[in-house]
Amino acid sequence: MIIRFLGTHNAESRNTRLVSFLIDGVLAVDAGSLVSELTFPEQARIKAILLTHGHYDHIRAIPAFAFNNSDRTTRVIATQQTLDILSSHLIDGVVYPQFTSEASFLQRATIQLAPVEPFHRQNIEGYEVMAVPVQHPLDGVGFEITSGDGKTLFYTGDTGPGLSSIWGKISPQLIIADVTWPNSLADAARDAGHLCPEMLEKELIEFRRLKGYLPRVVIIHLSPQHEPEIEKEIKEVAQKLGASIEVAREGKKLSL
Ligand SMILES: [Zn+2]
Ligand SMILES: [Zn+2]
Repeated sequence: MIIRFLGTHNAESRNTRLVSFLIDGVLAVDAGSLVSELTFPEQARIKAILLTHGHYDHIRAIPAFAFNNSDRTTRVIATQQTLDILSSHLIDGVVYPQFTSEASFLQRATIQLAPVEPFHRQNIEGYEVMAVPVQHPLDGVGFEITSGDGKTLFYTGDTGPGLSSIWGKISPQLIIADVTWPNSLADAARDAGHLCPEMLEKELIEFRRLKGYLPRVVIIHLSPQHEPEIEKEIKEVAQKLGASIEVAREGKKLSL
């Protein structure tokens, strides 16, 4: 399983992109920077897109992706609530075409909206995928994704504390986690449904207590203004736990 991080921040600029990553070039997870970081041929390889929730920074490239890839149909997989947000706010037939049915300038529906139920495992393009509810507005979910050769990652999506309630249901070798702010903004993080390094530490301690091991951890959804502070605090957590925890930047590739 090759993971390629396209966007790893919560705010966009020339040097920072919104959250999105690719698995083996064919499965996209969240769509913050799905078109801006990929060539047209790279976009054309994508078979399915998983969305964690309906916040703009995670869904915003879907209309552009559908426009660019109108010669085929791509599945967009998310909870019904996320799909409804997408259909009513972005591909709504007003700000952009709906893409889900044949329009005059399209030869076919280019987006197929496919709802997922939490905790229901399904095969998506050869990967076993399970949505797992997390603590975030708009009924955010994370995804456990297992490749055909048995490699498993868990992506938290945007989440606040409380992951320990789901640790018993998953067994990943890699966790990709939302750490948006440093410890000094812990209250804001809790209120908005995000983690800071000390919250992640608590969740990982609980993971190890329950599961007897700690997976490799990669951090995304960073706030650019606070990045040096987050990175310093994450290093301290990694040292304390004796764990591999690293901050991902745009363009990072990782093989599992
Ligand atoms: Zn969010
Ligand atoms: Zn977000």
